[in-house]
Amino acid sequence: MSTGRVDRDPLEGLDDEQRAAVCAPRGPVCVLAGAGTGKTRAITRRIAQLIRTGHVAPGQVLAVTFTARAAGEMRTRLRDLGIAGIQARTFHAAALRQLRYFWPQVVGDQPWPLLEHKLRLVGQAAQRAGTGTGADDLRDFAGEIEWAKASLVTAADYPAAVAAARRATPVPAAQVAAVYAAYEELKNRNRMLDFDDLLLHTVAALEEHPPVAQEFRDRYRCFVVDEYQDVTPLQQRMLDAWLGARDDLTVVGDANQTIYSFAGATPRFLLDFTRRFPDAVTVRLHRDYRSTPQVVSLANRVISAAAGRPAGARLQLTGQQPAGPRPSFAEHDDEAAEADAVAGAIAELLRHGTPAAEIAVLYRVNAQSEAYERALDAEGIPFQVRGGERFFHRPEVRAAIRGLRAAATGSSSRSPIWDPAVGLGGAARAVLAQQGLTTQPPAGSAARSRWESLRALAELADDLAGSTPDADLGQLVAELDSRAEAAHPPAVQGVTLASLHAAKGLEWDAVFLVGLVDGTLPIQYAEGDQAALEEERRLLYVGVTRARRRLALSWALSRTVGGRRSRRRSRFLHGLVPQDNPPARPR
Ligand code: ATP
Ligand code: MG
Repeated sequence: MSTGRVDRDPLEGLDDEQRAAVCAPRGPVCVLAGAGTGKTRAITRRIAQLIRTGHVAPGQVLAVTFTARAAGEMRTRLRDLGIAGIQARTFHAAALRQLRYFWPQVVGDQPWPLLEHKLRLVGQAAQRAGTGTGADDLRDFAGEIEWAKASLVTAADYPAAVAAARRATPVPAAQVAAVYAAYEELKNRNRMLDFDDLLLHTVAALEEHPPVAQEFRDRYRCFVVDEYQDVTPLQQRMLDAWLGARDDLTVVGDANQTIYSFAGATPRFLLDFTRRFPDAVTVRLHRDYRSTPQVVSLANRVISAAAGRPAGARLQLTGQQPAGPRPSFAEHDDEAAEADAVAGAIAELLRHGTPAAEIAVLYRVNAQSEAYERALDAEGIPFQVRGGERFFHRPEVRAAIRGLRAAATGSSSRSPIWDPAVGLGGAARAVLAQQGLTTQPPAGSAARSRWESLRALAELADDLAGSTPDADLGQLVAELDSRAEAAHPPAVQGVTLASLHAAKGLEWDAVFLVGLVDGTLPIQYAEGDQAALEEERRLLYVGVTRARRRLALSWALSRTVGGRRSRRRSRFLHGLVPQDNPPARPR
């Protein structure tokens, strides 16, 4: 069996519980643990350990997670451990790849194109069904269709399923069902696949075509899932189809970080794992290696108020980092003032040496980013709005990759710009200079952001040269192609602006949680729905636990400057803001 090259000991820097998860023999393993306790570290090391001990070859491992960025992160960490050739992907990317491979066998030569944006088709379906066709209606319908497909609910079953799930529907359930049915029909007639179809068809190929299942299961032997609390029934069905009768599955998750229930995710599979696999090795981790005790204490308090089944699985976290500043709480008159104050505080951090990439501003809904984009712009602070998945679509990035490809194929090492003295980083910079990469960043926000894209590519070349010393431009282009396919952009320098949902699994030295008012967190439509309110509380928990050292929470009483100060601080902060708890006075 060919095994990967392992430079570092996978057991280095693990505590006893993490080591138990990493060293467990092949078979089912479940790591149930709170934020920052090293779950992602443990599964990455487990893969490395299984390979090192010869239990599995790199090509036989399939690691899945929920965002392209997390999958990329896992590949990077594995590469740092000296292991290449692991498939680490999102469920969708894995399904797309498998389906492409098996399609000719199960359907035919004609590939069905992928429907990347479904709103237009949903619009036609809504028209047919005679319902509302406004932009909000269509977004609501699309959300319901996605929830239903992720929950393995057909159009005919939709009304009964929403009733059973006590799910609020935007319009009467029968109308949603009619739009859903029309959408499916139109889509199939046009021979197109939406993202959920990728999984549905992969499941069908494996379940209904024994030779396909056989070939797949010969190839992949070992499965690993990160963030398992957010698996949907459809994803679970695909995982089951991958496994067949086998049980070589490692899952890690934190039920208290379930934040995608609205889209059909459920922590049920995580919480019931040992019931399904009674022989599973189960490990609980409670040491938080990410955050200071001050941040950990706030996180514990946020989640201690939680109710519902996930809350039953929570563990009190113990911070392992040295002490740091207390989390700060600030109230502002209006949103602009809040954004200005945050930008000012960020400028101060930058002046004191915190790198921009180590700072994040996190909010509940994407629309909140605008005020922060403006405020950071005014301070001249570079930032990137998450959703960086579009990185590979940016014109300057496409042009740069074309340039790198041309240089690489020109004549690899004999190419005029290939000079061993400058190495891969130098060779890449020479090409990128033709695209506009200068030593100093240009003035102006748009030019600056183009420049940051090019710099990110140059730094990726440096990283590659660091991990693979003899890498050439051809390998850089191959790395870029594989990242583009997996939608895994390189790190662009700048403060991160992201929604709480997009921040899952990530960490920064300094985190600003902004816009913490009732109606935003919890979001308005969660009002009156206990389960939805609990999910909103978990979102705050996810936000708090992203910070390594500095955490600032803020809110504004009015949306507009001089507006009515009618907003209220988020109810989740009650009892957490220091002045809420004056020290008991001696009588
Ligand atoms: P989340 O729930 O947010 O996904 P997680 O449980 O996956 O968190 P990791 O991201 O794996 O946690 O680890 C959090 C941080 O702690 C990382 O920076 C990681 O490198 C570090 N870490 C994990 N385990 C250890 C350890 N045993 N010793 C030192 N640092 C550790
Ligand atoms: Mg993690």
